[in-house]
Amino acid sequence: MADVIKLLPESLANQIAAGEVVQRPASVVKELLENAIDAKATHIKLIIKEAGKSWIQVIDNGSGMSETDARMSFERHATSKISKTGDLFTIMTMGFRGEALASIAAVAQIEMKTRKESDETGTLIQIEGSQTLQIEPSQCAKGTSITVKNLFFNVPARRNFLKNISVEFAHIQDEFFRIALAHPDINFNLINNNDEIYQLAAGKLAQRIQAIFGVSYKGQLSACQEETPYLKIKGYIGKPNCAKRKRGEQFFFANKRFIKHPLLHFAVKECFESLIDPAEHPFYVLFLEIDPKHIDINVHPTKTEIKFDDERTVFQIVNAAVRKALANANLNAIDFSENVNNEMFAHFSSPSRATASTAQNNTFSANNYEKKPTQNWQQLYQNIANNNTQNTQMDTQEKIELKFASNFDNIHNIEMSELKAEHNLIFQIHNSFIVTQTKAGMMIIDQQAAHERVLYDKFSKTIESKFGASQQFLFPLNITLSPSDFDLIQDLKLQIHALGFSFSVCDKNTIIINGIPAEVRAGTEKALFEGFIAQFKENKEALKLPTNENLARSLSKRLAIKKGNKLSMQEMQNLLEQLLSSPNPSYAPDGTYTIVSFDVQKLQDLFQ
Ligand code: ADP
Ligand code: MG
Repeated sequence: MADVIKLLPESLANQIAAGEVVQRPASVVKELLENAIDAKATHIKLIIKEAGKSWIQVIDNGSGMSETDARMSFERHATSKISKTGDLFTIMTMGFRGEALASIAAVAQIEMKTRKESDETGTLIQIEGSQTLQIEPSQCAKGTSITVKNLFFNVPARRNFLKNISVEFAHIQDEFFRIALAHPDINFNLINNNDEIYQLAAGKLAQRIQAIFGVSYKGQLSACQEETPYLKIKGYIGKPNCAKRKRGEQFFFANKRFIKHPLLHFAVKECFESLIDPAEHPFYVLFLEIDPKHIDINVHPTKTEIKFDDERTVFQIVNAAVRKALANANLNAIDFSENVNNEMFAHFSSPSRATASTAQNNTFSANNYEKKPTQNWQQLYQNIANNNTQNTQMDTQEKIELKFASNFDNIHNIEMSELKAEHNLIFQIHNSFIVTQTKAGMMIIDQQAAHERVLYDKFSKTIESKFGASQQFLFPLNITLSPSDFDLIQDLKLQIHALGFSFSVCDKNTIIINGIPAEVRAGTEKALFEGFIAQFKENKEALKLPTNENLARSLSKRLAIKKGNKLSMQEMQNLLEQLLSSPNPSYAPDGTYTIVSFDVQKLQDLFQ
């Protein structure tokens, strides 16, 4: 029998490859925008018609191409971006496969005009289904304009598979947003059926977020920044009240390339656990910068999945950085004229409520109660490191210590040193709120919510460590309980001990309490204990909290200093110091605000 194996004709091979690269109009948009970015354009215009089905045009003012390069660019595996295997591991450009233009040209009608700055005339190329129809010199602007018409004109099955206009448009918009967010320093325009729907001026990331998602994000973002030798993180997270039920406003970028990474999404979401409804998703735009040798972006042709060589460490750093940003969220706001890494200003935040939670028990939970604020974040990292040593192959402890040589200023320290310096600038109003001056303005602290947060941090820590200090009674206290409460307390005996109550069983349904947590005021012991148990049962019913979290929350709720109680200067200072050294100072455990701050400008605005 004759030999049967033949090489595929070039156009057919390209068409097959196109199946991988070009799934829908949005894939073309992504490839063309990325090429414009790689060409160092500063203005990029995207024009589409019928959600890209009939027309996708990208005009850039980038490097442009010579006539030969323009021809070559449509060859498969033709790229100016890598030339040897080693380059694959140091890729910093968006493209590198050299197959996008060849694939697109295999399934559409293309017209490209391109000119290098140094050339007087440019080149016009027309290609249809991989067949070059025309190449000629052309007068055109510096840069490249490439138009992709009638996508899948020669592959009816694919064309028929496209979804309706609104779905395809949404995909295009997603790609456009991802690229525009990753490059706030580039001007972008999006024109859809002759309407200019986005005109994004070059600027700072915070401005770009606002330009894309709306001005309502102003004041709702918290800067997230962390630098370690392995990984840098920069970007913003939205405050808990911008969380949405619908997904879609979560962006991770690795070296400016949008990535999807469920584990990292979880690393962020976990930080919001007790602050947002479990059905909601936090807003974030986070950029990871990592040496390309630590990542493999080659795992999928559409390049949104990537692998890190040390996923666990990336998880930990992201998780810790987001916690820190959240902790700062209510104390800071973004000045939209500043960049992420510049000094931030205190702000006015509207006292809306974050949703109460049904949080799960949290492996990396930041239950560090540490009086010295300077150690707070180190402690948090320490804790995270400790939590993970069991199943890490490397010496995580050592690595983490090295990595968390953080250069991030702890805003809490700044605030505290000022507060201490200005004793007389702390006072209480209506025996309920503490008012104090801050660097940028003032803040009002809800004493009850603040104390609940401080106690909660402490109790969640002692309950995990199974060791809590208790204050022994001279005269033990007898409490008779209902049979069901009695059983409940027996079941929770270990945890209740850890919270600081020592008791023994005296008789059926009666216990003797010998010791109580140090914070319990004399004369309130019995009422407090009963209230604590009642609160626990109520939370269990209503919030379905995990047992330990419920215990810590119930006790802090019952024990917290209530509104209406006068506080001494010392008490106010202690409370503030403890609150500001919490990993999560801005919210009470139930998600309500502890602090509302106003900057001087906002105060001024109130008078106009
Ligand atoms: P890749 O981007 O992976 O290299 P493409 O098929 O997307 O592959 O592009 C092939 C080559 O064409 C690129 O390497 C680049 O040299 C050139 N090119 C494509 N688009 C542009 C553009 N907008 N401006 C300048 N050069 C471009
Ligand atoms: Mg490309």
